[in-house]
Amino acid sequence: MGNIQTKDFYCDFVLNNKLQVEKIKETKNILAFYHTKPNWTIHIVIIPKKHVTRFIELEDMGLIKEIFQVAQDIIKEKGLAESNYKIITNGGSFQDSQHLHFHLVSGEVLHFSGE
Ligand SMILES: [Zn+2]
Repeated sequence: MGNIQTKDFYCDFVLNNKLQVEKIKETKNILAFYHTKPNWTIHIVIIPKKHVTRFIELEDMGLIKEIFQVAQDIIKEKGLAESNYKIITNGGSFQDSQHLHFHLVSGEVLHFSGE
């Protein structure tokens, strides 16, 4: 995350409103917003509000259902199925911020840095 020194950008900056993000959708448990440093024409991040460090540690699979429901709503509302989209979550050394998050991306790559 650039020069911001944190291992959990979402808890440390987004969820506590230290950094204002452009929110797209918010439910009781889930927040979706535009990536602050997009790598794609449309680059959305979807996170659980409750801290979960890694996907493999997730116990409440209901959160996955809620995340994908939010993703589906956004895809429909933005008409992304007519162009393209993909949903990614990173693990192991691919994972930068240590808070479970999904990337919903569409359009073209602006510059690639592993989502
Ligand atoms: Zn967190």
